[in-house]
Amino acid sequence: MSIQEFSLEVTPILPPILNRLKELTDDLRYSWNIPTRNLFERLDKELWMLVGHNPKLFLQNIEQAKLNEAATNPSFLNDYHQVLSRYDAFYQAKERREGGTQLAKNDLIAYFCAEYGFHESLPVYSGGLGILAGDHCKTASDMRLPFVGVGLFYHQGYFSQQIDHEGNQIVSRHINDPRHLPLSPVVDNTGTPILIEIKIGATPVFVRAWQVRIGHIHLYLLDTNVLHNNADNCAITDQLYGGDQHTRIKQEIVLGIGGVRMLRRLGISPTIWHINEGHAAFLILERLRELKVAGHAVETALEAVAANTVFTTHTPVPAGHDHFPRELMMNYLGHFAQQEFGLSPEAFLDLGCLPQDGPDFNMTTLAIKSARHLNGVSRIHGNISAEICAKFWPAIAPAENPMRYVTNGVHISSILARDWNELFNDKLGIEWHRYLCDTQTWQAVIEAIPDQQFWQIKQNVKSRMLDIIRRALTAQHTRHQISKTHLERILKFIDPNNPNILTIGFARRFATYKRATLLLKDLERLRMLLTDSSKPVVFIFAGKAHPADIPGQNLLKALYHLGGEPDFLGKLLVVQGYDLGLSRRLVSGVDVWLNNPIYPLEASGTSGMKAAINAAINLSILDGWWAEGYEGDNGWGIKPSPHSNEELRDQEDVRSLYEVLQDEVISLYYDQGKYGYSSGWIKKAKRSMASILPRFNTVRMLNDYIKGFYLPASQQGKRLSDNNYVQAQTLAHWKANIRNCWNGVRIRQLAIPPTQQLNYGESVTLQVALYLNQLQASDVTIELLLSRQIYHPEFLGSRQPDFQAESIQTYRLVPERPLPETGEYLYTITFQPEWCGGLKYQIRAYPHHELLSHPQEMGMMLWV
Ligand SMILES: *Cc1c(COP(=O)(O)O)cnc(C)c1O
Repeated sequence: MSIQEFSLEVTPILPPILNRLKELTDDLRYSWNIPTRNLFERLDKELWMLVGHNPKLFLQNIEQAKLNEAATNPSFLNDYHQVLSRYDAFYQAKERREGGTQLAKNDLIAYFCAEYGFHESLPVYSGGLGILAGDHCKTASDMRLPFVGVGLFYHQGYFSQQIDHEGNQIVSRHINDPRHLPLSPVVDNTGTPILIEIKIGATPVFVRAWQVRIGHIHLYLLDTNVLHNNADNCAITDQLYGGDQHTRIKQEIVLGIGGVRMLRRLGISPTIWHINEGHAAFLILERLRELKVAGHAVETALEAVAANTVFTTHTPVPAGHDHFPRELMMNYLGHFAQQEFGLSPEAFLDLGCLPQDGPDFNMTTLAIKSARHLNGVSRIHGNISAEICAKFWPAIAPAENPMRYVTNGVHISSILARDWNELFNDKLGIEWHRYLCDTQTWQAVIEAIPDQQFWQIKQNVKSRMLDIIRRALTAQHTRHQISKTHLERILKFIDPNNPNILTIGFARRFATYKRATLLLKDLERLRMLLTDSSKPVVFIFAGKAHPADIPGQNLLKALYHLGGEPDFLGKLLVVQGYDLGLSRRLVSGVDVWLNNPIYPLEASGTSGMKAAINAAINLSILDGWWAEGYEGDNGWGIKPSPHSNEELRDQEDVRSLYEVLQDEVISLYYDQGKYGYSSGWIKKAKRSMASILPRFNTVRMLNDYIKGFYLPASQQGKRLSDNNYVQAQTLAHWKANIRNCWNGVRIRQLAIPPTQQLNYGESVTLQVALYLNQLQASDVTIELLLSRQIYHPEFLGSRQPDFQAESIQTYRLVPERPLPETGEYLYTITFQPEWCGGLKYQIRAYPHHELLSHPQEMGMMLWV
């Protein structure tokens, strides 16, 4: 017999005095404002958990009686009014802060990303990329930047994870009902949703938008689930990283092309365009089209668009960059190329291709060719990216090409546990986040916390984490019908009343390069470590593997299985459902944060930063951000094995890891004095917090973006677009001419002196003849690079000279006169070396124009 179910929805009525609660639920400021979240939680703790910390859903499901009671509860009302008064003060303080004050009055940054992670209540993210994008937006609000975000509204988000009794990852999908989420439809003045239209292949696809309020800034999430679309197109924005290549390219068309159109439709005119990872790079096509329609040549349009476009790449693995077969491109964007662009298929596809890369259209290639401001996300990743991308500027050394870096950071208020928050409120006043980058202040404040108090706070936060993990594991295992005694064995070492067991966390996406099972490489050592009852250790693992990533899921399974063996039971725990909520608990609660990726594949990583600012200590491979963050006394850094053989590399890494674990981590933790804690441990934890909080926060990161990328992009954009793009046209013409002539340019040094001997203070004169092949003398820069002779490079260690270091001095040669007899042009220089000893010099020439964004953007260079 089938029984039908009908639904009914009863909305509680907010007592008038509590009316503004609703306002708070529609503003993601709650994701970093703990007092706001507390307000909901205290109304009904149980419900707060059941609705996954979602304030809007909470207010739709709370019992009327609880609201009525709160409306007459003086203590609640007191807190409520305090939250509101801070809320209002937050909106009254509109003036730009930090680097924001340097932007021009009419500047506006448009930030495009395929995923955003603000809070667990808005599940449109999968991992680090999304959370970074979320933190970027939150910080733009903190700094009151002129900023707008663009993304996609995924009806099913990423996925929810369960783990069955065999350790299999079970994927479940929930429908994101917009009525339950902190967003509102973008409508016109009659209340009708605003639609824009894009052609994907021959079919028009209609796109609507949802507006998300993130404090002072807005984000628009695009959505194809509208009546006018056929079922296929409605489903374009169903899942994050789901579907096949057809879905993926359509999503990226909606994001890039649809995103620009939606902004235009809303009358928003960005002056700076930030493409955060290649998924959003199609925005370039739409901007080119706009300029084409306005009557500009494609080459001019390309210069103008590139001038104010910033592109951030997030993976050092070339295979991680999205690419599409040519047929797919032509199928979905062929009409766009021909009808709206007037470009031949070849010319169009060339925008995303390099001859040596194979035929596919690559989103990273499109972005690098069409953005002048490029960066990776840590120093190591910036260098690796410069090497991977060196092919775009073939004659330029990677260290000198335009690829640079901004090291990631985290949004402190979103991730700092409430107890630390309160402590900083006490010590620094509630505006403490205004001194986020002030190293000395943090050093002083954190050093001054009495050890006893520091330990107590850490233990409180840890206890709360243990409680949450206990509940999660209980729910997880109860489904599998295990006995109560067995459950107790599993939970034995995570006891909120006894938080004195060394707890090590490992939680992140289960991508294989993160090597979640590295510790399992040496099972005997792991067994020894975990069966020493005098110094107990617990590992907590969590993380999702992409549903199509079978090797990633196998890692999860291997951990789960081992955790079920008698020696490991209760000491190696795998918790399902990793999301922002669980992440917040883990990073703030554990004692040690473990990260052991394959070097150099961790582009940056951010979870270790989150752990450090919450007084956990990092134990990590020196890769990504940690290679910059590690200072010797603020955590443990494992030097990655240089072996290229995978097996040997892993063996070496695991050996180093166990050595540090046993000799340093465990012994330091259990070196407990008479007060029950280890003062050496606290010293390290304080150093970790004090050194990392002021450096790896997103205010520092945004300041870096503004100074190194947004400001130059804004200025270049303006220069090239003023007076109807006359300078963009000049630059395009100049480049075309350089490309025609450069192959024929020749350089030689005249009257080459043998090794010259001179005394300090004397000068040298050098002459160079350049055959310009129809170029002007002013089209070329000629430089002399002076460096010190290195007699014994084997003792140089890490002090390798590179082109950015001061170990090289650069002198410019000046154009002197034509040499009629050879058709060359004479350049000379007279200089006094500032150094003594053996010196070397090299001479080189490269194209120069004052409108270039980067001196080496042409990728051309000649050496004598
Ligand atoms: C911070 C965070 C990440 C990024 O973690 P990494 O270890 O840097 O990869 C991923 N997922 C969630 C839920 C996070 O909070």
